[in-house]
Amino acid sequence: MTALHATLPGLELPGTVDTVVNWGLGVDSTAMIARILEDPAAHGVDLDRTAVVHMATGNEWPDTLADAERHMLPLLREHGVRLVQLARAGQSDRAGIEVLDDSRSPQRLIARGAWTLWDEMEANGTVPQQGGVRRCSIRAKGSVGDRWIPTATGGRPFVQLMGFNADEASRAVRDAAAGDSPVRTGRFPLIEWGWGRRDCEEYLHQRFGVRWRKSYCWFCCYPISMGAMEANLQRMRAFPDIAGRVLRLEYVATCLNPNAKLFGVSSLLERFDPAAPADRPVLDAFARELDCPWALYRVRRILPVAKDNPARRAPALRSVQQLALGTRAQVGRRLETASARHGLSVQTDPAHGMVRTWLRHRRDVLPTVEELLVTAPAYVRDKQQKRFEKEWAAHVGRLVALPVG
Ligand code: SF4
Repeated sequence: MTALHATLPGLELPGTVDTVVNWGLGVDSTAMIARILEDPAAHGVDLDRTAVVHMATGNEWPDTLADAERHMLPLLREHGVRLVQLARAGQSDRAGIEVLDDSRSPQRLIARGAWTLWDEMEANGTVPQQGGVRRCSIRAKGSVGDRWIPTATGGRPFVQLMGFNADEASRAVRDAAAGDSPVRTGRFPLIEWGWGRRDCEEYLHQRFGVRWRKSYCWFCCYPISMGAMEANLQRMRAFPDIAGRVLRLEYVATCLNPNAKLFGVSSLLERFDPAAPADRPVLDAFARELDCPWALYRVRRILPVAKDNPARRAPALRSVQQLALGTRAQVGRRLETASARHGLSVQTDPAHGMVRTWLRHRRDVLPTVEELLVTAPAYVRDKQQKRFEKEWAAHVGRLVALPVG
């Protein structure tokens, strides 16, 4: 059973929905909704049977939330549009989803539910995965909407309006190709109108008098790939406390795995210059974030060979165990002392405090393993896959030389 529940009893509105409009709060979907509301019937939309759906990740930028509340909620209220605010209810799929609000007179945007993507990243000591399928987006947004929709449509056919713009028509093609539901029809009004990103920005500027800000999670790794790194850094400077937290998230991830930089080959930290006055508040906030309990972790990682293709790597398996807890200095000294006793060299980061000792380095061939002891802020919980120990024993006992694919 889907654990669909409202934060307040009876919060869900009755009625049958045949049109679902995805609202991510960003430029494209906001422009799409605002224009449709100029004349819903002309766009084939019956507002009585329509729900605008927003999936809260819990980590949206405050200025985007503020603009959306200030300019869009009055418009939705004026037209009596049903706005449904949803969030994932927990880490496991079994936890279901939360209905944060369901109203034709929405008063505010609810920034988060009980679970957020941040919680997941922080507890795992990771950052969003670069490249491939955006699993974070599917977990925090796509799958949440997909679980709610049948409860509103009663399983009947429905149309889903998506804010893909005319510059990204390939997304509409992918959406159509992935259409695995016989009851869903995707529609892409911005593409129908020929509106690219610039058209959407100009429309919102003329309509509301603001330059609408990009919508994304604070710690998203994609701004760089979308050519918006400088704007991302400006935003971090405008919200230094958020930036400090994101730097800490990245720092913990790179302590556990030096390859886990936020932008793949480069880190967020290296974008800030300690000598630049504009960057000081961000770096000071980062320093405050590191002033917390620290832990000594044992990290083991297996990089296996794909079963169907021995030249390719299968998804890594990882085990993280917290061995000791203390202050940054205490756990650092403990690791340095133990390493010296065993004649092992240590890596240190004098600027921020990490101490690391490699017990096994990964090789340039597959399969391979690595093992390290490292100190880091104590946010990461113990975790390993059920089959990890068996796989570890098998791999450590049998390392064969295959080229890394
Ligand atoms: S905004 Fe970025 S981090 Fe957030 S869900 Fe989307 S892809 Fe993931």
